[in-house]
Amino acid sequence: AKVRVGLLFGGCSGEHEVSIFSAQAIARGLASGADKYDVVPVYIRKDGVWVVDAHGVLTAGKPLAVGEGAVSPMDRIPASIPEIDIWFPVLHGPNGEDGTIQGLLELMQMPYVGCGVLASAVGMDKLAMKSAFAQVGLPQVKYMEVLRSQVYSNPCVFPKLCDDIETTLGYPCFVKPANLGSSVGIAKAKDRQELEAALDSAASYDRRIIVEAGVVAREVECAILGNDNPKASVIGEISFDADFYDYETKYTSGQAELAIPAKLPPDVVNTIQEQAIQAFQAIDGAGLSRVDFFYIEATGEVLINEINTFPGFTATSMYPMLWQATGVEFEQLIDRLIQLGMERTANTS
Ligand code: ADP
Ligand code: MG
Ligand code: MG
Repeated sequence: AKVRVGLLFGGCSGEHEVSIFSAQAIARGLASGADKYDVVPVYIRKDGVWVVDAHGVLTAGKPLAVGEGAVSPMDRIPASIPEIDIWFPVLHGPNGEDGTIQGLLELMQMPYVGCGVLASAVGMDKLAMKSAFAQVGLPQVKYMEVLRSQVYSNPCVFPKLCDDIETTLGYPCFVKPANLGSSVGIAKAKDRQELEAALDSAASYDRRIIVEAGVVAREVECAILGNDNPKASVIGEISFDADFYDYETKYTSGQAELAIPAKLPPDVVNTIQEQAIQAFQAIDGAGLSRVDFFYIEATGEVLINEINTFPGFTATSMYPMLWQATGVEFEQLIDRLIQLGMERTANTS
């Protein structure tokens, strides 16, 4: 019998559109193994309503006002599509890459592809993620934790907070909402005025904020595949002509260039691959992740930046391209991810 794959995509996050593109690519990949899989596309609208049988959205490749009269996921999912064999949450950012969907699927006792609740939640929260990395001794930039309440509610605390950041981290520094992705809400501050504005803006996105010392470095990425015995891909590099890798640069075609494999000394490649696996294990990753690093050429330093538990997955995204360059074709990759998801649920790995 064919395996029925529930493709969950869209979602209430800033990466809704990217998710549709990833889902299109994965649906095509699943269809190319036509004798093996039945794809059941389930579209999560921006307002959180689930729309079953959302082939139209995949065909259009953009958000559609579908699903008139749809109800909440808790009512909808168990009643209407109980015959899914495995879920494939193709969701980026909050409400999907962060453990929330994974928790729902656990409750439903359904197998699913990718990281579980813990890894997804830790991977999405930049502060929790950095604690986990520090715990296993991974080198990373200096950073500080800031709460929204320090920025907003007590005017007396704010100047002192900015003083502390200036002394501890200096300029430039990066101010980020803790629980986002795609560079949403991230600002680079070069002076006090920019720092104040950046904190104010980040606080509008999240209760938790991270401020990091800025580095001048090459940005290199490594793809991970596996459960208890994760494998690392070749390394890729992103280069762009912008102040940093912001939202516009990420999603305007032609603004960023990928080099696969990156031109790096062999020992640096080894270090990055080892650290990528360590990072994956530090958060208890499963299935897949993309681990991003800063490589400071002048000193040879490798600093981990972040892990993304459901990285961009279009045919031209870094994650599948890294695996292709490592010898795993797109269709094989999807096959393997489904297999890993099944194994994880069956408690065989
Ligand atoms: P996201 O999860 O949204 O991708 P990142 O932490 O990866 O957030 O930051 C987005 C981009 O901002 C990075 O790819 C990099 O270009 C720049 N950046 C982030 N932190 C730093 C830093 N500490 N030093 C230099 N550049 C940074
Ligand atoms: Mg990220
Ligand atoms: Mg990033």
